[in-house]
Amino acid sequence: MSDLRIIKNGSVAVTDEGTIAWVGPADEVPSSLRRTGVIDCSGDTLMPAFVDSHTHLVWGGDRKDELEQRLGGADYEEIFAAGGGILSSVRQTRELSEDELYLESLARISRMRRAGTTTFEIKSGYGLDLETELKQLRVIRRLRDEGGFRVTATCLAAHAVPAESRGSDADRAAFLTRVIEEILPAVAEQGLADSCDVFCDRGAFTPQESRAVLTKALELDLELRVHANEFGHTGGAALAAELGAASADHLLALDADERAGLRDAGVVATLLPGTSMVLGKPFADGRALVEDGVAVAVASDCNPGSCALENLAVVLGLACYGNRLSPAEAICAVTHNAAASMGLDDQVGSLRPGRQADILRLATEDYRDLVYHAGSPLLRTVYQSGTPIHGGHS
Ligand SMILES: [Zn+2]
Repeated sequence: MSDLRIIKNGSVAVTDEGTIAWVGPADEVPSSLRRTGVIDCSGDTLMPAFVDSHTHLVWGGDRKDELEQRLGGADYEEIFAAGGGILSSVRQTRELSEDELYLESLARISRMRRAGTTTFEIKSGYGLDLETELKQLRVIRRLRDEGGFRVTATCLAAHAVPAESRGSDADRAAFLTRVIEEILPAVAEQGLADSCDVFCDRGAFTPQESRAVLTKALELDLELRVHANEFGHTGGAALAAELGAASADHLLALDADERAGLRDAGVVATLLPGTSMVLGKPFADGRALVEDGVAVAVASDCNPGSCALENLAVVLGLACYGNRLSPAEAICAVTHNAAASMGLDDQVGSLRPGRQADILRLATEDYRDLVYHAGSPLLRTVYQSGTPIHGGHS
């Protein structure tokens, strides 16, 4: 993760189709590739565009009131228990029409793209009933098909127990049965999701309940992702390793055995330092994960409550200052490793021949300025498949 294979005075050749044809030293560009449309980027840095492998960016309404409650001392788990948190977003998301939800989400994802992210994983999970989960997933598909965003979809129907199912153990069990027998099969049949996620933690779902959801997802040929070990050693990381999940996410409480389990099972550890900052929690130990040989990704967790940060460059800085990754490791984490956790590393996340020309042009010759000057406007141009989607060509 620490070797970015930097080429000084390099060139990138891009095809008319928007893929990368060649990368190497500028004085070695093959003559067959020297054509019109040469852009002089002297003094700047070219790097892969950001890949955000954990977002909840399709939601209705907002939870700005909770921001003030939390800053006044209320705890996230307390707010949730009082009917706020995820359940508040569920109410607001159920109320919106599909078009309203699309437009709110489109504004959000457009800002994220201007900040350098061209590939997004987006989860459902603010429906918690069949109709609204499908609505959210259709909005994700529209962002891809109508909006032209590079997007994968994850069904997170097991995000929380909805308000109407919290009265008794039997109601809770009936909800889980609906997720397993009704929602996941409908999602798979309509081809609306690539992956299935479950919130396996205190206050959400037990490892046993999570295993039932994820086992069904495997039967339906969905990839697995797990919200794991955010609030304690609650079994999610071990479950992700046991079932061969693509990603285990959060991981604030993680011991050496759990790290070894993730590494040996090839699970990407996805860290979400923006959430730690917003909630005032400790940061996951990224240093220990890297040193133990676990592949680490870093993502925004963009969601209405615990972290509405949209700028992955800011989160990249937090991955260094909070998770103790080096700038090079953090860049690998928000590009190649994030893409790998989504099964897209053969398309995005690195500048290599055959990949999409999703490229950031930074107004600095030292990539470490992304961390050193975290949050500064260093992005000169954002390209998706060779086309500038933010900033200019020159
Ligand atoms: Zn999340």
